[in-house]
Amino acid sequence: MTEHTLLEVKDLKVQIPTRRGVLTPVNEVSFTIGRGEIVGVVGESGAGKSITGSAIIGLLDRPARISSGSVTLQGEVISGLNEEQLRRVRGKRIGTVFQDPLTSLDPLMSIGDQLSETAMAHLAISREAAREKALQALIDVGIPAAESRLDAYPHEFSGGMRQRVVIALALIGEPDLIIADEPTTALDVSVQAQVLMLLKRLCRERNTGVMLITHDMGVIAETTDRVVVLYAGRVAEIGNTEQVLTSAKHPYTRGLVGATPNPANMDGDNARLNQIPGSMPGLLALPTGCPFHPRCSEVMPVCKTEQPALTPLGDTTIACHLATEASA
Ligand code: SF4
Repeated sequence: MTEHTLLEVKDLKVQIPTRRGVLTPVNEVSFTIGRGEIVGVVGESGAGKSITGSAIIGLLDRPARISSGSVTLQGEVISGLNEEQLRRVRGKRIGTVFQDPLTSLDPLMSIGDQLSETAMAHLAISREAAREKALQALIDVGIPAAESRLDAYPHEFSGGMRQRVVIALALIGEPDLIIADEPTTALDVSVQAQVLMLLKRLCRERNTGVMLITHDMGVIAETTDRVVVLYAGRVAEIGNTEQVLTSAKHPYTRGLVGATPNPANMDGDNARLNQIPGSMPGLLALPTGCPFHPRCSEVMPVCKTEQPALTPLGDTTIACHLATEASA
């Protein structure tokens, strides 16, 4: 952890007791996010992305709980805080943007009131100042004729404009960190890029760190500085986004990159995308050794019995026995 580290997630483990056994959807996950840095967390459905985000902000659905590891925000361990303390962290120090903007907005309250109430709750400012701040927040996220839209209700905005309002709501408390979980998945393709660029620009300007959760390698490529690839609740690969995308080392990451449409490569044979065979294993039926081994084209005997440790290989770090082989 350096002086520029904003968030440190260390050996985070989330467990869910069930009648059929204890599930571990997040297993010894570690990564950091610096000030003004955008870190993508990517993987297929069931990889543990969203539950990692929920654990960080203390919004795990019971009976899921953090069983070990820690979450540290600006040097303060927040993973042990009680609900009241966590409520203060959310909004003021960590803002959130979820997939469906309607879940973040109160349908019975005007946009201006929602922004003003949030600003007053986190910044201890007067109602008048909060209204001014709400107006500026709408201007900042590019809402046309912002002053006349302050008294409008969420249903009067399009999906893309609603997500802009949610970004304004997440940023109005001046948080240090934004956790954005599939923020553009519900939007039309034409507005996805605009919303992502807006989030990126505003966070850069304010030096706000971002944890961007997505299943989409295209979103990772366009938006993030570093990427954490999760598989079956564990980190498979972590590194600088450009390096991971151009020279992925983990077979699973290579599969995700190969399954992503690349407009530059859509002619002839390149138009065919490579699918990763099989599917993510269920948490009650995790394979022994490397959890990716039943789907891996490079599987070796050791992969079936031993869980690989995270090991640097070239420019990135991977949990794969290929890294151990390369350094032997
Ligand atoms: Fe494939 Fe083995 Fe690496 Fe797992 S450890 S990704 S099975 S090569």
